Amino acid sequence: MLEQAQRVLKDIFGYDSFRGRQGAIIERVANGGDALVLMPTGGGKSLCFQVPGLLRDGLAVVVSPLIALMDDQVATLEELGVSAAALNSTLSAEQQRELAARIRRGEVKMLYLAPERLVQPRMLEFLGQLQIALFAIDEAHCVSQWGHDFRPEYLQLGQLAEQFPDVPRIALTATADKRTREEIVTRLHLQDAERFLSSFDRPNIFYRIVPKEQPRKQLLAFLSERRSDAGIVYCLSRKKVDEVAAFLCEQGFPALPYHAGLPSDVRAANQKRFLNEEGLIMVATIAFGMGIDKPNVRFVAHMDLPKSLEAYYQETGRAGRDGLPADAWMAYGLQDVVMLKQMLQNSEGDERHKRVEHHKLDAMLALCEETRCRRQALLKYFDEDMPNPCGHCDNCVDGVQTWDATEPARQALSAVFRTGQRYGVGHLVDVLLGKDNEKIRSFGHQQLAVWGVGKDRSEHDWRTLFRQLVARGLADIDLEGYGGLRLSETCRPLLRGEVTLELRRELKPQTVARSGGGSPASQLVRADEREQWEALRALRRKLAEEHGVPPYVIFPDSTLLEMLRSQPQSMSDMARVSGVGARKLERYGEAFLEVLGGTAEAAPVVADIRHELISLARAGMTPSQIAGQLKCTEKNVYSLLAEAIAAQQLSLEQALDLPEDLMAEVQDAFLDGEGELPPVAAVAELFAGRVPEGVLYCVRAALQSEFEV
Ligand code: ADP
Ligand code: ZN
Repeated sequence: MLEQAQRVLKDIFGYDSFRGRQGAIIERVANGGDALVLMPTGGGKSLCFQVPGLLRDGLAVVVSPLIALMDDQVATLEELGVSAAALNSTLSAEQQRELAARIRRGEVKMLYLAPERLVQPRMLEFLGQLQIALFAIDEAHCVSQWGHDFRPEYLQLGQLAEQFPDVPRIALTATADKRTREEIVTRLHLQDAERFLSSFDRPNIFYRIVPKEQPRKQLLAFLSERRSDAGIVYCLSRKKVDEVAAFLCEQGFPALPYHAGLPSDVRAANQKRFLNEEGLIMVATIAFGMGIDKPNVRFVAHMDLPKSLEAYYQETGRAGRDGLPADAWMAYGLQDVVMLKQMLQNSEGDERHKRVEHHKLDAMLALCEETRCRRQALLKYFDEDMPNPCGHCDNCVDGVQTWDATEPARQALSAVFRTGQRYGVGHLVDVLLGKDNEKIRSFGHQQLAVWGVGKDRSEHDWRTLFRQLVARGLADIDLEGYGGLRLSETCRPLLRGEVTLELRRELKPQTVARSGGGSPASQLVRADEREQWEALRALRRKLAEEHGVPPYVIFPDSTLLEMLRSQPQSMSDMARVSGVGARKLERYGEAFLEVLGGTAEAAPVVADIRHELISLARAGMTPSQIAGQLKCTEKNVYSLLAEAIAAQQLSLEQALDLPEDLMAEVQDAFLDGEGELPPVAAVAELFAGRVPEGVLYCVRAALQSEFEV
């Protein structure tokens, strides 16, 4: 059986070997057994049911909660030459009847559908008349009532066990915790399923957490090392999402906003662009994510603290599904903690629930102030022991210095106590520094013994210290009042001198801002490979557009990268590249060989710039900003913009940033005469020195295309 599976893996999917436990899982299910698969995002869950589905006779039925994901998987399978279909509400009654007929004739190998569909009595009856290869239940954690993805329809899937006792079932999830696992087993009646538990480590993700100093500047520093990479920037509030997205566009990064407050068509459009175009940055609240299967998200940046390690793991896990190097970056500060704690306190729910949530937040904070390997700490939280430091996180790479903070910590805590446990960090720091301002005087705080005891440290150092005290739980935020600091029970031993306190030493803020990210593997391709890489990507994009699928469905980045590195010269070389199966070899092999051989070079590179230019213009960048980004002259940008306008890929408003009245004046100049539009040369003189000549070409192109329709 394993041998046959191996052949399917190579012929259809183009891969050489199974990853992790894939082989064992496939063998189990292909032989008719049930399986419960826990594997992290990007671990390769799809193959675990697709391969046995192909090996067994009959229809493989895949339950998936999200339409977008289904379409993606169906497109991917179709590209591989596997006949697949999704049955969902977007199909008309007529289309549904046709699909049913195709299924009856055995023309469909894999059927994706939503759980509520599957459990309809008519559907079950229909399936009962067919031979079924297997049932795959994807995102199986949706059956858990405690998780945030709970879907009541999943509860009904248990009946498959009784109705189809001879059909193997495989449930898959990337959710790790024990409670969810047990719920899946009970509710889906998977008592006889073999359990396959993988490590939840994501070895290709580089983790970095930095203190928040000047967050926007820090973000820019991080992004500037990752130009033309796709990524997600998470913010806590909708307002901040809008602001950060606008700011990034201003700074020349193509960014789109996404949050629940946007009209649903805008949201859908932005999501679609993020999936289909390359190098876009999605600035989003946590509303964005579930159902994002884009494999080449190169980074996830957090501008605000997530509320738990579960959330942090899940959100950062959207980076690097394709297994190539990716970055998880976060800036966090005391204000985040205050905000999250206040939100929590004001949220609904009973005290016990709130206590649990506070503990989760504390675990998140502990990771931020962690002095050992971040990955070890993160996995430990999920009950996984990693014997050695990972060597692939900021703490491992930069090293962490600690210092004995016992004395200053006592001073800080005593400032909290002596001022009556109700002031915020700003005032407390002023007291320690011995500032002589109005607020200090009005409360008589200049008379306190702690006033001025901390003059030998900078304001920045004290702020850092307070943040660390809160993160360690030695000081609490007063949530009933105005967010001032209080002492907590746990700080007594420290105040009494019974214990000492070691803290992480902070790097100087300037250095932090400059080396905002800087993971060793942030760049996938070397400068000398860039040109060919872009040519490969351009060809992929062209094919994707022709086929109406996202680029990664044609080939994932990892496959393009392997082509780039191994430089196949013939179709048989090409067949050896991982990710090139028989069907794709036949369809695309030649075209990619041509690009690699250099014969098809010129056209795609230009096509590529054009594509990027359109994205940038749509994201609101001005022609001069675009020129900067694409490293070409403004004149070139204008002529490409004019072409894009002529091809109706851009509107004039998207392309240019002229004031309205000047725009009208230019348009009038062209429209003054009778009949044909005058050439640019004829009106150029009127605007010499007022607008770049390129603008005239763009306006003319727009008018021309209007006349043509
Ligand atoms: P998951 O659903 O677990 O997040 P996917 O099934 O989407 O992961 O797989 C992630 C990526 O890894 C996909 O691009 C997939 O084609 C690739 N992949 C999976 N298994 C293998 C393998 N054995 N060899 C090479 N690539 C693989
Ligand atoms: Zn590490």
